[in-house]
Amino acid sequence: MSEKFDCIVVGAGPAGIACAYELAKAGVNVLLLERGEYPGSKNVMGGVLYRKMMEDVIPGFYKEAPLERPIVEQRFMMLDKESAVTFGYKGMEWGREPYNNFTVLRAKFDQWFAQKAVDHGALLINETVALECIVEDGRVIGVRTDRPDGDIYADVVVLADGVNSLLAKSLGFHKEFRPDEVALATMEIIKLDRKVIEDRFNLEEGQGCTIELFGDATKGILGTGFLYTNKDTLSIGVGTLLSGLIKHKIKPYELLEYVKQHPMIRPYLQGGEPQEYLAHLIPEGGYYSMPKVVGNGVLVVGDAAQLVNAIHREGSNMAMTSGRLAAETIVMAKQAGNFSEEMLDHYRQRLMESFVGEDLKKYKDSTHHFDKFPQYFEEYIPMMNRAASQMFTVDGTSKREKQKKIWRDIGTVKQKLKIARDMYRAWKVIK
Ligand code: FAD
Repeated sequence: MSEKFDCIVVGAGPAGIACAYELAKAGVNVLLLERGEYPGSKNVMGGVLYRKMMEDVIPGFYKEAPLERPIVEQRFMMLDKESAVTFGYKGMEWGREPYNNFTVLRAKFDQWFAQKAVDHGALLINETVALECIVEDGRVIGVRTDRPDGDIYADVVVLADGVNSLLAKSLGFHKEFRPDEVALATMEIIKLDRKVIEDRFNLEEGQGCTIELFGDATKGILGTGFLYTNKDTLSIGVGTLLSGLIKHKIKPYELLEYVKQHPMIRPYLQGGEPQEYLAHLIPEGGYYSMPKVVGNGVLVVGDAAQLVNAIHREGSNMAMTSGRLAAETIVMAKQAGNFSEEMLDHYRQRLMESFVGEDLKKYKDSTHHFDKFPQYFEEYIPMMNRAASQMFTVDGTSKREKQKKIWRDIGTVKQKLKIARDMYRAWKVIK
């Protein structure tokens, strides 16, 4: 296969497909390479798909895409061993067009999305691994694949090959990531009757709910768990920084089993049949971990560029936006017949000016902060749950006496000052 394309996109996840879709729509001759049997076959996500960024690519997609449920409620559970402080938001407006977010199963969704790119003229080749970029005179001119007729050439190559991006690494764009820059997430898809799901989560027919889990969901390790409703399955998962798993000597599947058996979670899953077990890395280093994202004849998008907002569990939206912006830059570069790093840098500039760059900058110190000070998850969540238990237990003690006891239990003046300082620091890194 020594044909030359205008563009090769490596990886058919949300970033790569969005890019290939936009390019094909603009009449660019684009090849989309995917190592899996089909797009989505290798992909793992909770997963919440954000409508706005998907509509920026395909307006009205929700009328035909294989979505699970529109999310009408987002809950947050602060877990201790046998308790939960829960808060959240439910709004019926999220259940009506144009909706807010949706749960999706990537194996179905990515296939549908990739087919849309193919319908516009992109060429999709599955079961093909891009092994390395072909570089000539300091410029990427194609990719070497594992196919017998392996080298493919293009004016420009887009690396959308996900969190590990071996291709960007081989170009020297990033080093091996440290264990405190990536989270390892494991999840299970559990089959459950749809009516049972709706009853258990207090939902009307077809509606969905997401629950984010903190604290004891990860045994106090920096990370989160999640429980999402699909049509007739639940997605339950947990993800922590690799450094946390190493430090606490916990295996990821042990943590998943632990959260599944948690007394606050177990009743939701009761009677369900495990269907699929999945594990994947998530880039959580944020702004400081971003690699170089453009070079001569090459751009990096999505997880490969470490575009994840771990605080708000957003990744697919950043992936799609980066893919779209990369495509718009390539169309411009094609018109100018110039694929130099200088020209392609337009993509980096637009990315950093968009919500992607803005949000990464806003939370640039957050992961590192919460990793450095584990007391937020280890101590303060259990403390909050104990306080709630005391306050809401009706035992004849006056409310003022209860408040005094909660205040005393927090500890000495020095400990109270430490908590106040920690809360101020937390506010500073997420403000
Ligand atoms: P990916 O989706 O990883 O796609 C990369 C593609 O490239 C894959 O198809 C892969 O097979 C292919 N590939 C890799 N290497 C090669 C190669 N050498 N040659 C050919 N093909 C290759 N985000 C959200 O927005 N909402 C959520 O609820 C959410 N939940 C998550 C839950 C879990 C457990 C995990 C792990 C992640 C979650 N994320 C979530 C993050 C989200 O999944 C990612 O940010 C998003 O998938 C990134 O898209 P991408 O296209 O950049 O990469």
